[in-house]
Amino acid sequence: MELILFGAPGSGKGTQAKKIAAWLGIPQISTGDILRGEIQKGSSIGLQVKEILAGGNLVSDALVIEMIRARLAEEDCQKGFVLDGFPRTEAQATALDLLLEEMGRSIQCVLSLDVSEEELVARITKRQTCGKCGAIYNTQFSPAPNGRCTCGSDDLRVRADDNEETVRNRLQNYAESSEILIKVYEKKNLLSHIESTGLTPDQVFTKVREALGHIAHE
Ligand code: ADP
Repeated sequence: MELILFGAPGSGKGTQAKKIAAWLGIPQISTGDILRGEIQKGSSIGLQVKEILAGGNLVSDALVIEMIRARLAEEDCQKGFVLDGFPRTEAQATALDLLLEEMGRSIQCVLSLDVSEEELVARITKRQTCGKCGAIYNTQFSPAPNGRCTCGSDDLRVRADDNEETVRNRLQNYAESSEILIKVYEKKNLLSHIESTGLTPDQVFTKVREALGHIAHE
């Protein structure tokens, strides 16, 4: 199944993408994770994008489109994938359509996780990610038990771009860029909104499963 997950920073996109990936046995493809991986490795791409991510701005379409092209060609994507953080611009959506067409495939469903801005800021500024397995916690809403990840690691990190100033910029970028993308996929009859304000990750996942149920069992 070919899926896209939309949601503002802090909407729970990464958490739900992981749950969907495990449920359907397809990979989660997060452009944010790939970019952060490049930064951590100190690769030439990483050096190019480090400041851009730190400021909460978007990296160039050409770069992320190329990353996605390479990733979708890998073996584990043949059964499907869940895109998390891509497409983020109209140019990326157009490029994705072309890419999938070349592969004889198409997007089956687009989910948008909708959360109020007030809750988004609270969630992001309290977010922690496990440096070992990537699990996501929130010091207020879903704290890591005894300060440790369930994988056993105590390497809980705060993302460099999860500070209030950068968050506002990212939220504004998202509001501007998502509006048009939402319309694109609404027109294609592919979009489902998942109202997620005030819900726990498991409650949101129940709604996600309901929204995908008809396709997942085809
Ligand atoms: P969030 O949705 O919380 O901002 P992501 O992990 O999806 O987090 O993205 C982090 C950063 O990576 C973005 O602020 C942006 O700089 C960069 N990025 C990720 N995906 C894209 C994309 N498709 N196009 C451009 N930049 C991207």
